[in-house]
Amino acid sequence: MKRDVLIVGAGGAGLYAALSAVKENKDLDVAVLTKVYPTRSHTGAAQGGINAALANVDPTDNEELHTFDTIKGSDYLADQEAVKYMCYEAPKIIRAMEHMGVPFSRLGNGKIAQRPFGGASKDRTCYSADKMGHVMLHTLYEQCIKEGVEFLNEWFMLNIVHDGKRAIGVTAINIATGEVELIRAKSIILATGGHSRIYWGYTSNALGCTGDGTAAALRAGLPLKDMEFLQFHPTGLRKSAILVSEAARGEGGHLKNALGERFMKKYAPEKMELGPRDLVSRSIMQEIREGRGFKDEEGREYVHLDLTHLGEEKIKERLPQIRELAIDFEGIDPIKEPIPIKPTAHYAMGGIHTNVKCETPIEGIYAAGEAQCVSVHGANRLGGNSLLDIVVFGNVAGKEAVRYAEGTDFADGGEEKLKEDIEFINELMNKESKETLGDMRNELGEIMFKHFGVFKNEKEMQEGYAKLKDLIERAHKNLGVEDKSKIFNLDLQSTLEFFNLLEIADVLAYASLQRKESRGSFYRDDYPKRDDENFLYHSMITKNPDGSFNYEKGEVDISLYEPAERKY
Ligand SMILES: Cc1cc2nc3c(=O)[nH]c(=O)nc-3n(C[C@H](O)[C@H](O)[C@H](O)COP(=O)(O)OP(=O)(O)OC[C@H]3O[C@@H](n4cnc5c(N)ncnc54)[C@H](O)[C@@H]3O)c2cc1C
Repeated sequence: MKRDVLIVGAGGAGLYAALSAVKENKDLDVAVLTKVYPTRSHTGAAQGGINAALANVDPTDNEELHTFDTIKGSDYLADQEAVKYMCYEAPKIIRAMEHMGVPFSRLGNGKIAQRPFGGASKDRTCYSADKMGHVMLHTLYEQCIKEGVEFLNEWFMLNIVHDGKRAIGVTAINIATGEVELIRAKSIILATGGHSRIYWGYTSNALGCTGDGTAAALRAGLPLKDMEFLQFHPTGLRKSAILVSEAARGEGGHLKNALGERFMKKYAPEKMELGPRDLVSRSIMQEIREGRGFKDEEGREYVHLDLTHLGEEKIKERLPQIRELAIDFEGIDPIKEPIPIKPTAHYAMGGIHTNVKCETPIEGIYAAGEAQCVSVHGANRLGGNSLLDIVVFGNVAGKEAVRYAEGTDFADGGEEKLKEDIEFINELMNKESKETLGDMRNELGEIMFKHFGVFKNEKEMQEGYAKLKDLIERAHKNLGVEDKSKIFNLDLQSTLEFFNLLEIADVLAYASLQRKESRGSFYRDDYPKRDDENFLYHSMITKNPDGSFNYEKGEVDISLYEPAERKY
């Protein structure tokens, strides 16, 4: 199989990249390869909205303020020119999507409505009730079909193949048949999404957010950047960790402890519930730690998100999905009762290192979306900035990949890698499992949440890392595939995903131990202060053939705003 431009991933980043690529050059073969049907990508779960300084609600808003808020939110670890590019592109790309047919919610005057969001100084988040990602994903998919993008649905990418200088292609399993193939491509865009499933059982992410592309990049010798930064969203449902969008607080929801206090007044007196996510998550955990949280019969600790004062009409109009989720998964109607919530692992700031053109160090290999780290989110992403990031950089990646494909031919090689992958899968299929995948995944989630959670310290992390190493060793020794069939073998797929999760968890743990400071989402009790003198750098990690890591320090672009203390 051969395609000029092969995009792996059909979330917002992959679909926007595909759309830009076909519009750029109709004569190239552009294909999207995806393990789930495109409209089931995690982008479809995004609720709250997408940021752009349209100034529809507050006429004093502008792109410069958006840039500053994002940099401040990032705790000064974002690359400032890259942030500026994203924020100035935002109004253009929102209008482009509006013209494609994305059904945004409207103000009385017909303009796109905007709501307040965490860490933003103005009402800047464009929305479609609480289903922003869903409507974006469906509209982009329709547009791709209209423009003739080819879809390889339900194909699972295994590895990225290159010759040390440029892209050769990827190896992938056709899930429907179980056949493993080498797909050659002049350019490849990795748009495989995030990896918060390493916190199995404690995450808002879909089952498929297993960092497959990020792990494959690591195996292919590409650098991963800022992997220690993983954001906890303050409001996951108590039992399932399913997300309750920031829109709930944007619309005026209150966080309350067991004493009925709006405790955010202690931690962010000005922004209150709309402080940035890292701060709000820590505040909730602090209340729980100090005994002011609730505890249910099963020992789960939580606080309340109270929407009751918003009234039935507003909840039904602006937050219908949140109401449904609270009823289905907690048995609680937010019109009548507060929602039990706790922080949930939500978003990976770290990922595959690229420059602003979405280029990795290997020619013809690009990354976009949550899998990518430019970095525009630094140590902490603001709500509404990811849906923006994925389309802005999806657009760039699509164009750059076309430009490269136009000037090159298919590279030779890759047969060895294909053979290796087929052998690896045969081995897994023939092995008897001595432990079960389900138990091991839960164990991974427990280790990560307990030892690499909202609060961290050296001792806890070292203990956690030892447990993780043991789990990795056992998984390689004891885990096989129970289901021996070739057709739609989801047991095999889940096992491969689990191996990817383990690789990512390993890097995240390793990177966390190197950073002896607190910054944005990354908080250590033993080093509670930000330390610009020693740690204002991007961590860059590559893997050696023997499995050890190389750790380097990448420069942060602070050319626009001097780092300052964050106050909210
Ligand atoms: C519950 C929730 C709510 C959110 N709400 C918001 C919000 O309101 N605003 C905001 O800005 N951000 C929000 N986010 C974050 C944002 O939605 C995501 O960061 C973003 O959608 C990621 O898009 P993506 O295209 O990079 O990846 P995804 O949408 O996750 O898509 C990944 C794609 O890669 C494919 N893939 C992965 N691995 C493989 C493989 N091995 N082989 C083949 N294909 C593969 C998948 O099939 C999928 O198509 C939310 C996130 C969550 C989880």
